[in-house]
Amino acid sequence: MDLITVIVPCFNEEASLPYFFRAYEQLKSTMRMVSFELLFIDDGSKDNTLSVIKDLAANHEEIKYISFSRNFGKEAAMYAGLQHAQGDYVVFMDADLQDPPSLLPDMYKAVAEDGYDSAATRRVTRAGEPPIRSFFARIFYRLMNRISHTELVDGARDYRLMSRKFVNALLELSEYNRFSKGLFGWVGFRTKWFAYENVERVAGETKWSFWKLLLYAVDGIVAFSTVPLIASTVFGLLSCLLSFAGILFVIVRKLLVGDPIQGWASTVCIILLMGGIQLLCTGILGQYLAKTYLEAKKRPIYIINEQSSKIKG
Ligand code: UDP
Ligand code: MG
Repeated sequence: MDLITVIVPCFNEEASLPYFFRAYEQLKSTMRMVSFELLFIDDGSKDNTLSVIKDLAANHEEIKYISFSRNFGKEAAMYAGLQHAQGDYVVFMDADLQDPPSLLPDMYKAVAEDGYDSAATRRVTRAGEPPIRSFFARIFYRLMNRISHTELVDGARDYRLMSRKFVNALLELSEYNRFSKGLFGWVGFRTKWFAYENVERVAGETKWSFWKLLLYAVDGIVAFSTVPLIASTVFGLLSCLLSFAGILFVIVRKLLVGDPIQGWASTVCIILLMGGIQLLCTGILGQYLAKTYLEAKKRPIYIINEQSSKIKG
């Protein structure tokens, strides 16, 4: 019988976990042909998430948990889950039931029977989300697909069922700055997509502020594209050409009509513009340098505070 590991990253999810567990039990009863391992990753929650998880783990043999020493972010939690999953198949699922468990039987069929290596999901609507967030998300995906060779699917979720082969490939990518939506595409293999309408959170609230999402988007761009670096070089080159033309113009004008003192305002504008462009380009360079610095330090992606005794290693 196949074993499916369900990885659930949890950060302050005490309110949604009971709902999640009920849905999980129901899912289990519809998928009797497989056995399950439920792996909770407590990502440094400040509420009672860990004690809720411990209660569940004490009463159910298949439930395991890992608890981080602080909040390391969802990406770190997902990686920890992959490293400790024992299943032949592994699936990520949010604790807030925004990843409908009802899709899992079809996803399992695609991977186990139809020869796919992963079954991924995407939301086709973003109802219930602040419009400004949807707007920037859409811009992000459009931009990313222009500037990166790795394909990113708009609305793609982390909810994905993967074969062991796919999981092992992901484990090879042990980088510190993780952007799973890109890593999934980067490893390749055959993926079947499942579309669904957005579901709102069952309880609690989203852990992503606009600012956190913006930084995550920068992570994604820096990790999967070097186009910003090329763009800043081209930008610099163009402004050099422009200023050469300007210098020539000034010299010729001086020779032909003399040089009455004029145009300081435009000079100041140009200095400001050039200064701005230079700072922008240095900033872009700095982003890449900073990420390289973080990678070079080879810090662990997460630190475990405690884990259930059922976890090996
Ligand atoms: N999450 C996490 N660490 C974080 C932020 C979120 O483990 O730093 C978990 C969270 O508990 C949830 C999942 O990641 O199970 C998705 O988070 P959320 O629902 O807040 O994101 P949204 O669905 O709004 O994008
Ligand atoms: Mg959510």
